[in-house]
Amino acid sequence: LKKKASAWEKEASDVKLAAVLGAGIMGGGVAFQSALKGTPIVMKDINQDGIKLGLNEAKKLLSKRVAKGKMDAGQMGDVLNNITPTLNYGDFKSVDLVVEAVVENPKVKDAVLRETEDAVREDTILTSNTSTISINLLAKNLKRPENFCGMHFFNPVHMMPLVEVIRGEKTSDRAIATTVAYAKAMGKTPIVVNDCPGFLVNRVLFPYFGGFAALLRDGADFQKIDKVMEKFGWPMGPAYLLDVVGMDTAKHANEVMAEGFPDRMKADFKSGIDVMFENNRYGQKNDKGFYKYE
Ligand code: NAD
Repeated sequence: LKKKASAWEKEASDVKLAAVLGAGIMGGGVAFQSALKGTPIVMKDINQDGIKLGLNEAKKLLSKRVAKGKMDAGQMGDVLNNITPTLNYGDFKSVDLVVEAVVENPKVKDAVLRETEDAVREDTILTSNTSTISINLLAKNLKRPENFCGMHFFNPVHMMPLVEVIRGEKTSDRAIATTVAYAKAMGKTPIVVNDCPGFLVNRVLFPYFGGFAALLRDGADFQKIDKVMEKFGWPMGPAYLLDVVGMDTAKHANEVMAEGFPDRMKADFKSGIDVMFENNRYGQKNDKGFYKYE
């Protein structure tokens, strides 16, 4: 087993300057984690409000660390100085690796990746944090698909150790090696997987949600299932986990899995995810899902 990296320890990586596109939940998290672990990062969004949200989230997380005595105000300032917010591609010629984390829409991602490719150097690695879109599909319109791969973080980025590095058909070994090294420098545990619907984690997770949905159909009580899974040793049960993921995100991923693996993943009944979604119960993001959060 790999030893745990301490807060200020940094593994070697060729990525001296990174960039993240989108300062939302995931982009803000990637910027925070990169800055915390010592790799400066440019954080680009299309609107100032997005940037503000991303920076405020980083400040909140850092203030908590200061309050707990894990760092002092000077170190907090150093971490924040590692994040350069921007609305344009001005500094991108100095960037070694880009993490695209804009909205989960193939057309938007395609356009953003292509304009980024024009803004960076020829040897810059481009990655996408997509949860469900094929890496081969996103690579299709790129001039340098060999420099492109998936870099799939989990939410919340600062807490979840795993990162899926997804190899497309044309991805080079250099792109994979650079992305793996950057993930390690961020204190994460990267795994390299091939491109397929759900990559690896969602191929395990969504059959589990499918089993949970079948139990609900058979009349089981979701709170009891959650309690059993907690007793089993998992940090939370499936209902609570779905509330954390968000019903809209889960519904979309479920559909992608059913389309990709119809023999295993297509259900002949309406799942609990669909029922929650239809009743506007999206989970923690709107304070009501399986549970209420008021
Ligand atoms: P979000 O809506 O919180 O953030 C998206 C951000 O992208 C917004 O700030 C928006 O202003 C910005 N944006 C839109 N177009 C842009 C452009 N052209 N250039 C720069 N910025 C632009 O979304 P999110 O939840 O952070 O998801 C981002 C990506 O991460 C998606 O692909 C999603 O599937 C993936 N993902 C999300 C989660 C999750 O749990 N939220 C987990 C893993 C992966």
